Amino acid sequence: MKPLICGNWKMHKDVYEATSLVKGLLVELPSEVYRRIEVAVAPSYVCLYPVHLIVEDTPIFLAAQNVYYEKEGAYTGEVSIGMLKSVGCSYCIVGHSERRKLFGETDTAVNLKIKALLDGGIAPILCVGETLEEREAGKTLDVVGHQVFEALKGVKISSAKDIVVAYEPVWAIGTGRVAHPEQAQEVHAFIRNILKDLFGDLANDIKILYGGSVKPDNIKGLMRERDINGALVGGASLKVRDFSEIVINALEVI
Ligand code: PEP
Repeated sequence: MKPLICGNWKMHKDVYEATSLVKGLLVELPSEVYRRIEVAVAPSYVCLYPVHLIVEDTPIFLAAQNVYYEKEGAYTGEVSIGMLKSVGCSYCIVGHSERRKLFGETDTAVNLKIKALLDGGIAPILCVGETLEEREAGKTLDVVGHQVFEALKGVKISSAKDIVVAYEPVWAIGTGRVAHPEQAQEVHAFIRNILKDLFGDLANDIKILYGGSVKPDNIKGLMRERDINGALVGGASLKVRDFSEIVINALEVI
């Protein structure tokens, strides 16, 4: 399968900065990259359309950072799947740990978003991951397993191939503390087995990304692992040079 490297710009970059960042990536990334790796960026909602205008005829995919699952209505401040489609989104991040922790996003909401996105033709990037306390208490697999099961409840086998899962240990996000490749691989293999239970052999086509302090100097070790099919990159996706190096370094080992 083609790996995916997606930059999550979080609440960084205004329209001018976001458009200049994506223009920089288009200059810096050699065209052969796109034959073997999918590259995506996830700007804030207000930057989606301006960034879309720049990437629409290029191989860079556009991702949103969140969505609401209802089609339309009196939901002040929310954005629908149709709206995301109208600005060219192919992917949408769901259940990021920051949303779960700071904005009270529940497993139930994550599940509704995933199903609505799949029905609406946008591929969800489902984020799961344990906190430091949970890891230290030996609960990593329980926590991650629970999050994956709850998020994918009721998802039809026919849409399974469009799901992307991102394993993002909370203790590794924005901390500079990356998971060891073997540590990540253990959880990725566990997630793959859950996906096999749910979707059979289609599980082998589902991308499982790693996220958490990915940098140019640690991407190769991660990408060499069997069940790591790409990365969700936060801080290091905010600089043209760092993000491009991550993509180019990944290319060397896949
Ligand atoms: C993220 O928040 O998705 C993330 C992986 O952040 P960082 O790369 O900064 O740890």
